Amino acid sequence: MPYSKLSKGFLEALRSIVGPQHVLCGTQITEDYQRDELAEDLFCPEAVVVPESTEQVSQLLQWAFEHNVPVTTRGSGTGLCGGSVAVEGGIVLSTARMNQILEVDQQNLMAVVQPGVILMEFQKFVEDQGLFYPPDPGEKTATLGGNVSTNAGGMRAVKYGVTRDYVIGLEAVLADGTVIETGGKVVKNSSGYSLNHLLIGSEGTLAVITKLTLKLLPKPEKQISLLVPFPSLREAIETVPRILAAKVVPTAIEFLQREVLEAAEKYLGKQFPDSSAPAYLLLTFYGQNVVELESVYEKTAHVCLDAGAIDVLIANSPDRQESIWQTRGAFLEALKAMSALEEVDVVVPPSEIAAFVQFTKDLEAELEARILSFGHAGDGNLHVYILQDELPKDEWQRRAHQAMDAMYARAKQLRGQVSGEHGIGYAKRPYLRSSLGAAQMQLMRGIKDVFDPKGILNPGKVWSPSAADSVKLEESNWMH
Ligand SMILES: Cc1cc2nc3c(=O)[nH]c(=O)nc-3n(C[C@H](O)[C@H](O)[C@H](O)COP(=O)(O)OP(=O)(O)OC[C@H]3O[C@@H](n4cnc5c(N)ncnc54)[C@H](O)[C@@H]3O)c2cc1C
Repeated sequence: MPYSKLSKGFLEALRSIVGPQHVLCGTQITEDYQRDELAEDLFCPEAVVVPESTEQVSQLLQWAFEHNVPVTTRGSGTGLCGGSVAVEGGIVLSTARMNQILEVDQQNLMAVVQPGVILMEFQKFVEDQGLFYPPDPGEKTATLGGNVSTNAGGMRAVKYGVTRDYVIGLEAVLADGTVIETGGKVVKNSSGYSLNHLLIGSEGTLAVITKLTLKLLPKPEKQISLLVPFPSLREAIETVPRILAAKVVPTAIEFLQREVLEAAEKYLGKQFPDSSAPAYLLLTFYGQNVVELESVYEKTAHVCLDAGAIDVLIANSPDRQESIWQTRGAFLEALKAMSALEEVDVVVPPSEIAAFVQFTKDLEAELEARILSFGHAGDGNLHVYILQDELPKDEWQRRAHQAMDAMYARAKQLRGQVSGEHGIGYAKRPYLRSSLGAAQMQLMRGIKDVFDPKGILNPGKVWSPSAADSVKLEESNWMH
């Protein structure tokens, strides 16, 4: 059934639910609401609504279900695959006003929050109370609801896992307005299918998440970072499985190449402690005391030097560590400032990461388009960028799609997955379908139909076709 367009009467209904000042339409809908950080195309919703409670979300969905109007939920819009844009029009539901930290439960080491709480504010809030929320994706202005809906990863996944590992309960509103609670303040749970885990990473296609119960840990007292220069990128990356095999568990292992480092130095206007080597590993260790940390970083330093590292630089003061990690955190923005780019966020087994990076280097030479990468070497999740530089747009897009087809196919051969942490949105749909195959896509479709029989929740994302997607399909060889 075709979706309904928002009439004047419809807008009045929305205003009566959330209050007139919390419904935006026409020129009030700025460009920010029409794109996310993928920033490829603009999709203007017919209205933006900003509810402040679960009850209002429930009323909005009940109304949208009845009138067959698409609803796309939006956190901070920092996603990198077009997840929060309204590709089929209708309503964008912003969680900006649902931004309360409702409880920090010191006895159970848990917190209960609304979905619009900003990640960095939450991290600071719990750390001030001696607690720790481990998921640490690079973009700290994202919302916790967005993090859960994309199953965000980040730097600390090597030791602590990803967002999914810290979500023990959710409150969510289904497409017809029904409110459900999954999981809760329980450490263990074997009570039937885990709808909690189904909703995590579902990118707003199954329900709108309105409350989160999150697991916390005691805050680690000490941390130290190692910056390890290598004579080549290959040697740096090939060292990672050797570190993991040595049974030390760093909190983070990132790989950096000089070209990206120099772009970040230029972007931030400040110097990195060392940028003379072609490539680096950057490692961080968290622990409760210095003795514990010393033994693991000494062991790691030996592994790195045995593997051909030029040196091992230790950053143990908070300022120095902050400065190094701030530079790492600026990589994406630095590349964006340099050129238009297409992104690939594949994940492969950590032992295959060197093979994958070499593959991208071979592609770079073959396609004559600059391909740069950086990423979470310790967990096998790479961020690879195909830069436009001086190429005409059409030609760059042709080469970029060729490169992406080849990279996703290679990731599959290496038993990897399409997305390690950014999700599928609309941009990566064709690749998901090819990677998972018909049987799994059919199961996903069945799940979607049960949760959202009219297809009003974030249409055109993850599994379903959309107008935006069909353009990409035509350009891509992947599906042929
Ligand atoms: C510079 C930069 C660095 C980044 N680094 C990382 C990184 O290291 N790791 C990583 O994982 N990601 C990273 N990201 C991507 C992005 O920050 C994450 O995907 C983040 O989780 C998105 O959160 P958001 O609040 O911006 O969500 P949005 O972009 O607004 O939405 C993302 C998806 O979640 C859905 N959604 C949002 N809130 C809800 C809700 N309450 N209920 C249901 N669905 C909802 C949306 O519909 C959409 O599909 C980075 C992005 C940038 C720009």
